Amino acid sequence: MITTSSVDPHPKSRTELAATWPPTAAVSREAGHEPQSPLRAIRAKCLDCSCYQASEVRLCEAIKCPLWPFRAGRHPWWGEREKACQTLADSGRETASESDGGAP
Ligand code: SF4
Repeated sequence: MITTSSVDPHPKSRTELAATWPPTAAVSREAGHEPQSPLRAIRAKCLDCSCYQASEVRLCEAIKCPLWPFRAGRHPWWGEREKACQTLADSGRETASESDGGAP
C-alpha cells in the first residue's frame, strides 16, 4: 500500500533553499517559516536582536537601523485609512503594545 506523507523524505539543504531567489511561499514553508506580514517579521527580528526583551526593543537607540521606525510592529508612515486596515487585520492577534506594556 502506498501512503502519502507531508514530510519530505529528502529535505533540501540550506544551500538548496537559499538558491531559490526570490524566496517563494513553498521554499519559505520548507525552510520552516509560517506566513506573516513584513511588520510582524520586523518585530520578530527586533525581539531576536534584543534577546526577546520587548522593553529593550522599545528602548533601542540604534536609530540608524533600517528597522528602527518599524520596531513596534507598526508602520509609522501609513495614513489613517491604512492604520484602520492594519488595526482590523491585527484584531485578535498579539499587538506590539500588548507585549511591551503599551505604546507611548
Ligand atoms: S531597530 Fe533596534 S532592535 Fe530592531 S533590529 Fe535594529 S538595532 Fe535591533
